[in-house]
Amino acid sequence: MAPRLPFILKFLDRFPNSQEAYPVWPAVATALMLNAVLVGYALFTPLPWLSRQISLLFGLIGIAITTWALFYFLRSPQSKPKRLINYLGLIGSGVAILLAFGLHNYLMPGYTTVLGIILITLTAVVHGRKATYGLFAAVTLAATGLYLLGWLEAHTLWQEATLFFLTSALLAETTLRLRQSYLQQMNHLNILNRAARALASTIEYRQVINLACSLVLESLPADSYFLGLLYQDKLRIELIYDLGEYFPPTEVTLDNRLSAHVIRHAQPLLIRDMESERYKYKQKQGVEYVGLQRMSQSWLGVPMSVGGKVIGVIVVASYRKNAFSNKDIWLLENLAQLVAMAIDNARHHQQVEERSQLDSLTQVLNHNAFLEALERALAQARSTGSPVSLIMLDVDYFKEFNDSFGHLIGDQVLKLIIETIRQHIKRTDWVGRWGGEEFAIALPNATGAQAYRVAQRIRETLGQATFTDRMGNSVKPPTVSQGIAVFPDEADEAYALIDLADQRLYKAKSRGRDQVEPDAAFWERKTDSGDEALSAEQTTYLQTEG
Ligand code: GH3
Ligand code: MG
Ligand code: MG
Repeated sequence: MAPRLPFILKFLDRFPNSQEAYPVWPAVATALMLNAVLVGYALFTPLPWLSRQISLLFGLIGIAITTWALFYFLRSPQSKPKRLINYLGLIGSGVAILLAFGLHNYLMPGYTTVLGIILITLTAVVHGRKATYGLFAAVTLAATGLYLLGWLEAHTLWQEATLFFLTSALLAETTLRLRQSYLQQMNHLNILNRAARALASTIEYRQVINLACSLVLESLPADSYFLGLLYQDKLRIELIYDLGEYFPPTEVTLDNRLSAHVIRHAQPLLIRDMESERYKYKQKQGVEYVGLQRMSQSWLGVPMSVGGKVIGVIVVASYRKNAFSNKDIWLLENLAQLVAMAIDNARHHQQVEERSQLDSLTQVLNHNAFLEALERALAQARSTGSPVSLIMLDVDYFKEFNDSFGHLIGDQVLKLIIETIRQHIKRTDWVGRWGGEEFAIALPNATGAQAYRVAQRIRETLGQATFTDRMGNSVKPPTVSQGIAVFPDEADEAYALIDLADQRLYKAKSRGRDQVEPDAAFWERKTDSGDEALSAEQTTYLQTEG
């Protein structure tokens, strides 16, 4: 904050750029005062004619330029330092310092030194390090040249120049350092701001993981990167990047890893020089060999935590020593915090999504989710030309069962039926609750004959099961009836397939329940091959049929 001189500030605040001009206006205002004093010196002290004229000229031109500069900085954003006018200002500063040195004998004592200090400080604020030291170098060279030409006496060079160089170097360097740390902090805050916005724009788990990677790589000088998430006592490394290459996710034990150190202490860990420091962390040989399996020289790991609980770790590494600083720890910790929250949100979202697809009693897919999954499977089967079989299953006389044993026991029966179905289907098959006590089973890649075998096994297993009721009596669960239809031979889309299987289910019901009504090809297989070629289950079926 600039000193709050109310009337000056009120005046300055009228300008659109007064806030941005704060850092430069002390230098500009001091220059204005310095030149005003020079004019006063020229007018009110007894001076030789030439000295008076030169001082007056210097002072008046100085006042004019400084007043113009004040308004220039107030009006135009300093955030565009590459402007031509700024470069002209830089050259002008150099020329002014040299002129002041050259005409030093005719000017007010100390004027040259103070002007030089002001201009160097101003350059440091506006242009940064390179321009400041460039200006220093140019002025030194020119001053030496002037001295060699005899325009500058030795005592001026020693007295004024030394004072000027030391004081302005101090001010410039302090300003530059403040400017640098301010710019770095701004940059870090910008990165965090962008990260927060980017991460808030997605709730997809994969996208969050990928975004985290690109954000970290953009912000830190890292050669490699990984993001690890805790699953029980293992670390699942979701994204590994090493020297421009991406590697597939892996799962590692925590053991002696540096990441484990970060997770256990819930604290960031920075290793600036791996060769000499790794022994501190019980690392016997290579450390964190992921990706290219080469040892990094610098390593920085920060924990990711949600609600005080560590959920994982973000690690960056470099094949160069001292690649990361304390400021990088701060940045990565904050990034990790944002990423952790986004991961947590994405996980919750995923859970809710999954839960919304399941039936709450039986934990199988609900009506809609089953239908969607079936449609996806049919689309895939269409492209590969493979079959999909569908079994519709309904509990026999379930109303009566409920009436005799109660709804709670009825619910348990439904769960038992699901368990039984799961025993007989493959991992690629799935069940859905189509309605109250009616279930649908999808069997990708299964022929009608294979589906028929599955349905019979379900029926047989249920037939052998027993159940204990509330009074402790052993009860037999109700039987089930099933109907089968096959894609694409019998129906070429989901609803038609379900409809056909449903019709067959009711055929099985009307024929007496506790049986399977197979696909149409079953009967062709039977007539074509003759009785002796029938498979075991077909024979069983025909026997039950009578
Ligand atoms: P069938 O299918 O053999 O023709 O006779 P049903 O008695 O099973 O047929 P219906 O469709 O008339 O009755 C279905 C019964 O299923 C009605 C309802 O009490 C019962 N039911 C539906 N959903 C549930 C459930 O979630 N829990 C329990 N316990 N019963 C259910
Ligand atoms: Mg029923
Ligand atoms: Mg029913």
